[in-house]
Amino acid sequence: MPPKAAKLSDMVSSFGENTLHCPACDGFYLHQGRTEVFNRGEDASEGTHVIVDGDKVQTDRDLTGNPSGRRQGLTIHFTCESCPAHVQMHIYQHKGNTFVKMDYQDGEA
Ligand SMILES: [Zn+2]
Repeated sequence: MPPKAAKLSDMVSSFGENTLHCPACDGFYLHQGRTEVFNRGEDASEGTHVIVDGDKVQTDRDLTGNPSGRRQGLTIHFTCESCPAHVQMHIYQHKGNTFVKMDYQDGEA
C-alpha cells in the first residue's frame, strides 16, 4: 500500500495526547509491537540496528529496512484492533528534515 501521512485524532485525552489512527481503516486502537532503531553516520553503508520485540533485544549491522535513505530511522510496528492490516510508523531524517509516515500491508482477515 502507498505510504500515508500520520493522522492524529482531533480528540485530545484528558492528559493532552492525540490518538494515532490506523492508515488502513482509520480506527484508533493501534497496539505497539516490534520497534526497530537504525543508527548510522551520514551515507554510511552499515550502522547499528536494534530490534526490540517483547522481551527480546537483537542488534546487528544490517540497515535493510531503514526508512531513511541516508541517515537515521525508527520504525514502530503495530497491529490494529479494528482491521487485519500490518501497520508501521516511520520516523526518519532526510537531509535537514525529520519526517513521519505511516505504511501498511493487508493482513489475513
Ligand atoms: Zn485498522
